[in-house]
Amino acid sequence: MHTTSPPAAVPGDIGVIGAGTMGLGVAQALATAGHRVTVVDPVPAALESAPGRLRTGLRAAVLMGRQDAASTGPTAVRVRFSRTLRDVREAPFVIECAPERIPLKEGLYSELGALCPRDTVIATCTSAIPVGLLGVRVQAPERVLGMHFMNPAYATDSVEVVRGEHTSDATLARARHLLHTMGKKGIVVHDSPGFVSNRVLMATVNDAAGVVQAGTADAKAVDAIFQDCFGHPMGPLRTADLIGLDVIVDTLHVLRELTGGAHFTPCTLLADLVAQGKLGRKTGEGFHRYATRRA
Ligand code: NAD
Repeated sequence: MHTTSPPAAVPGDIGVIGAGTMGLGVAQALATAGHRVTVVDPVPAALESAPGRLRTGLRAAVLMGRQDAASTGPTAVRVRFSRTLRDVREAPFVIECAPERIPLKEGLYSELGALCPRDTVIATCTSAIPVGLLGVRVQAPERVLGMHFMNPAYATDSVEVVRGEHTSDATLARARHLLHTMGKKGIVVHDSPGFVSNRVLMATVNDAAGVVQAGTADAKAVDAIFQDCFGHPMGPLRTADLIGLDVIVDTLHVLRELTGGAHFTPCTLLADLVAQGKLGRKTGEGFHRYATRRA
């Protein structure tokens, strides 16, 4: 792996945009399945720390029993890093995992649409932005769809696949095939702000945070209700910590803007935690404290 002078991307690599939590997780899942991947991120600090975070992810996959230790080296070598979008211009498939900001993603899709040939599939990992809103930015919007991987992408078996108004059958088939090569199943839903997953989850997280803010229960008790009474594997606030509280707040803003639903306005406690840099697992503290940080 390379940190300072990454080699030129190889034509035919799958492109991943964004070297954050999701970009690296998706790149790892692809590389584990044998695909070569070029990860693009314009932020130097993100690019510099990415190879180390990828190695951490690979170690976690070994500990989870999803990968054997001997295969982690060859897997890491299949992932290249670049700071220029031009390096994905020959990718047959691009998966975008850039920050959850509508103007940022719109700009990115205009660039990708002009850069990539019309038969390149462009998939967004957005949490809540409708696929159609991004698709209209590119020539040939039939090649755009949502592939909403869950976190960590290398350790989850199903993906929410979002079919936009213009998404073609061929695009959907290519996405399903790629997921099949990764040993994952796609669950197809129609386009709408937040789709199914985050329309429901984000409202729940915001309400759960509101309950803590009101003093009805602390975060531990809120999560215990969901785990011990409902039998959920993880409570909503631990789930929020895993996603990243900054990503939660960005997603709530998108949902508030696109649906008008007042219940999507992030509660004060969530906004305060983000302002204090308590972003959840990735910083070691959010609603809960963690001994180790996770990319
Ligand atoms: P993140 O903040 O961890 O990573 C975003 C990355 O994008 C950073 O490395 C940043 O440097 C980079 N970036 C900034 N500007 C960019 C640009 N103009 N072009 C390309 N990259 C740029 O965020 P994340 O958690 O990886 O989320 C990425 C996307 O995936 C968002 O749309 C988010 O809603 C979605 N998502 C997140 C989760 C989750 O659990 N965190 C789950 C599913 C989907």
